[in-house]
Amino acid sequence: MGSISLEQYGITVVDVDRNCPVPKLYADALRADARSVIAASGSLIAYSGEKTGRSPLDKRVVEHEDSIDEVWWGSINIPISDDVFHINRERAIDYLNTRPRLYCVDAFAGWDPKTRIRIRVICARPYHALFMHTMLIRPTPEELAEYGEPDVVIFNSGQFPANRRTSGMTSKTSVDLDLESREIVILGTEYAGEMKKGVFTYMNYAAPKAGILSMHCSATADRETGKTSVLFGLSGTGKTTLSADPRRLLIGDDEHCWSDSGIYNIEGGCYAKAMFLSPDSEPEIFDALRYGAVLENVIYDEETHGVDFSDASITQNTRGAYPIEHVANAQIPCVGEHPADVIFLTCDAFGVLPPVARLTPEEAMYHFISGYTAKIAGTEVGVTEPEATFSPCFGGPFLVWHPSKYAELLAQKLRQHGANVWLVNTGWTGGAYGTGSRMKLSVTRAIINAIHNGSLSTAATRTDPVFGFEVVTECADVADDVLWPENTWQDAAAYGQAAEKLKGLFEANFAKFSGSVS
Ligand code: ATP
Ligand code: MN
Repeated sequence: MGSISLEQYGITVVDVDRNCPVPKLYADALRADARSVIAASGSLIAYSGEKTGRSPLDKRVVEHEDSIDEVWWGSINIPISDDVFHINRERAIDYLNTRPRLYCVDAFAGWDPKTRIRIRVICARPYHALFMHTMLIRPTPEELAEYGEPDVVIFNSGQFPANRRTSGMTSKTSVDLDLESREIVILGTEYAGEMKKGVFTYMNYAAPKAGILSMHCSATADRETGKTSVLFGLSGTGKTTLSADPRRLLIGDDEHCWSDSGIYNIEGGCYAKAMFLSPDSEPEIFDALRYGAVLENVIYDEETHGVDFSDASITQNTRGAYPIEHVANAQIPCVGEHPADVIFLTCDAFGVLPPVARLTPEEAMYHFISGYTAKIAGTEVGVTEPEATFSPCFGGPFLVWHPSKYAELLAQKLRQHGANVWLVNTGWTGGAYGTGSRMKLSVTRAIINAIHNGSLSTAATRTDPVFGFEVVTECADVADDVLWPENTWQDAAAYGQAAEKLKGLFEANFAKFSGSVS
């Protein structure tokens, strides 16, 4: 709290508020952004402008001799030179210098005090400062007093575009990571999720380097036994929704590390999808969106400031960010023991995969490397209806090393701790997208519950004729017919064809990796 000089970065703005208190950020946001209001629930409503989802095609990583052999170069990690990075960095700083007032958020990533990373966010929009204050681990006044120099600095100049004529730029948006100077520059996108996922991307570099597995997953713990489980999954598969479980302690909803001493959350907040949020089906998330939370790109009633969670007129990807302590059953500090269950969530738009299958260690590696799901509308710019995608480690866009690095760490930890691995389809049943319907949330919750209480470990199974894994065929509170997908389709032959087609997609995708994973 208080002011800080950012001169070391060439930032000359004098009015810099460091770790600005929440009520002041509210007041500044209302003044600075004419569209911002306070929701009836107390959340700050803010708008991210043109970009309402991440821009994965605009992500760049600096090619540097020290890390060139560590990075998985390709469409996910597109190289830029050190020179181009500095052109964008300077542009970002020039823009920040035109602002009358800046915000500096100094906080931590990682709940393990031994390995936590000091993150500094420098931005001009109070909403961005509030967002990162919410999503990072907030330092105590003592920790802030002895904070020292940050490990990673994010320069967020998202209101200002990149220069398209700068070499390697393909749009006005650029999100650039320099692993050597540990800096991230954001130009041309005000979507706040870029900052959070920028931190995660850096963690995906630093953690494996230290033998720690970083994971795109949520995590919960049993209240009595302390046993934990992690739920891996790509965007929209249910990590956040399913981890908001009143029967369990919440460790975190999106990003975790697995070290030799157990698991820990990377973040200090949760970032939930708000589309169709209702107090009946997701009361924990609904109640967490109160004073101190940020609601992005939602539509509200002018008179009452009540939010209409069913209005997608700005985007399908409306979001709410809230500090983890807003969740009544949060486990603070957000750490837990080695997972007893590892769950892969997939949102299968073909309606082919079973609601739950038990995986052998080999099958677990196959599905981890495959990272199959169907993209759901909106989280990425330009995606408006579901489409099958394969994203290694269920987090392809955020990987820095080759997927085999993460897969080997996971294999080793599964072996060492003997965790059970499950594949859970939260997507379509009774037919593909268009014919069938989304798996009922109550069905998926019953399955996750049965995994947690141990009953699925001994439940009856039947071998899937196409995929070869063991499909669980009995589960409390779930009709037997639902558990065997073919039974939910009107036309069994059509089911068989769809299954073969999906298997073909799996094989074509996996061919890219065969030989690289031991
Ligand atoms: P991200 O990585 O983008 O944060 P996520 O994995 O956390 O994605 P959620 O925010 O949990 O995804 O989104 C899942 C969405 O799907 C929610 O809006 C939830 O209400 C809806 N949903 C519908 N049916 C199910 C189901 N059977 N299981 C899980 N979620 C479901
Ligand atoms: Mn989530």
